[in-house]
Amino acid sequence: MKTYLPAKFLIERDPERCIRCQVCVNQCTFDSHYYDAEDDEVRSYEESCVGCHRCVLFCPTKALTIRSNPLDYRDNYNWRPEVIEDIIRQAETGGVLLTGMGDDKGQRIYWDHLVLNASQVTNPSIDPLREPMELTTYLGQKPERVELHADLSLKTELAPQVRLEVPVMFAAMSYGAVSLNVHESLARAATEMGTLWNTGEGGLHPKLYKYGSNTIVQVASGRFGVHPEYLDVARVVEIKIGQGAKPGIGGHLPGEKVSLEVSMTRMIPQGTDALSPAPQHDIYSIEDLAQLVWALKEATNYTKPVSVKIAAVHNSAAIASGMVRAGADIIVLDGLRGSTGAAPKIIRDNVGIPIEMALASVDSRLRQEGIRNQTSIVVSGGIRNSGDVAKAIALGADAVYIGTAALIALGCTVCQQCHTGKCAWGICTTDLALTRRVNPDIGARRLANLLRGWSLELKDILGGMGVNALESLRGNRFHLRGVGLTDTELEILGVRMAGS
Ligand code: SF4
Ligand code: SF4
Repeated sequence: MKTYLPAKFLIERDPERCIRCQVCVNQCTFDSHYYDAEDDEVRSYEESCVGCHRCVLFCPTKALTIRSNPLDYRDNYNWRPEVIEDIIRQAETGGVLLTGMGDDKGQRIYWDHLVLNASQVTNPSIDPLREPMELTTYLGQKPERVELHADLSLKTELAPQVRLEVPVMFAAMSYGAVSLNVHESLARAATEMGTLWNTGEGGLHPKLYKYGSNTIVQVASGRFGVHPEYLDVARVVEIKIGQGAKPGIGGHLPGEKVSLEVSMTRMIPQGTDALSPAPQHDIYSIEDLAQLVWALKEATNYTKPVSVKIAAVHNSAAIASGMVRAGADIIVLDGLRGSTGAAPKIIRDNVGIPIEMALASVDSRLRQEGIRNQTSIVVSGGIRNSGDVAKAIALGADAVYIGTAALIALGCTVCQQCHTGKCAWGICTTDLALTRRVNPDIGARRLANLLRGWSLELKDILGGMGVNALESLRGNRFHLRGVGLTDTELEILGVRMAGS
């Protein structure tokens, strides 16, 4: 059927610069460039270009420019180009529109309406180049109070704790959704930087068992790749109930991405679709959740924290309270802007709540109930830089997960084509020719660099406030002020207006 969809991008090739090397032809996974032997010219199919910029960066003579196509629809606030094109696409296919990455709509990003404090005159700031600054974070249940023996050794028995040198971990991204080279890059960077990475729901490739002490393993509804050794090798076990990009629905890894290695790791037949059911079929109540939490603690000899991850939804505070009472040592809240390898576009863009609101309400509720010490809070879903991290910590988080930011460090340009399996950057694919585009040596170095840069910036932010430890910022909303927010928004966030 002829498509009525116009090209999203215009490809301009400078004929003076093009040497017909065909690098763009070989690099593009969406067949947007081809060599015309008859005319000895390299040409483009603009209709298939997804704007991933791989060709632009690899063109040896800088002959290429990709620009957004200024689509000439009549201005209409209601029937915007994206709305029109989605309807055209569904009229042509009759299917659910799939997409990758996170919500790109205009819902308010509250991080951009929160500002941090800095010391002036009183309580002088601290120079992080000259004074020690502490970013160390411990995740896990904390006791009501600590008792010491006469020799000052610890008398109170502590629940299992995980030490992070930087309060930023790599979010769950499953093997199959991303390549093994991406997993290896994440694992090596987490190990180098003293933090954790997360397998997602697709199991752990045996090659990566050696990074187990920096690994969070997930137990999700599909239970892919879950077996005793998988649990034994991990530092933290995470029960995945929901995901910010697609709350309330399950996952689907198409059979084409289930290669031999993926199938062995997931313990499913090669080439079959890997379907994760929407609910965890053994969890229909907080009591059911408690049973699974304690079963996993029992299975791991009570040596590692058990985390529970939910999507941020309307009653997150009440749900989180139940999760803590079910024994979750760590609760993970994944917000509206969280990313995914594949999700129905309509769910991604319309279901869930912003992570800032969920975090503030959960932290407040757990404090009101006097159970905040019984769990650590980790948030994810659109954390973009160290400023977002500092604001999340001040709002009440113990640590954050980053997913999209980590992939961008590996080359991702957020083209939102992860669900196609054709990622030109070799990230969201299991095609062996493409996965080689991520070199784990380089990937690990880039990811470690990102965390190193954010750590330095966090120390600068803390020093500017006159505090020398992240612990002093945690849940300290006095260090935040709101800009351009309504009274109701300020009340939910628990912060005062700038100037007050
Ligand atoms: S990569 Fe650049 S120089 Fe090579 S064929 Fe494509 S546009 Fe021409
Ligand atoms: S991972 Fe690849 S396909 Fe997905 S958004 Fe990034 S560049 Fe595009």
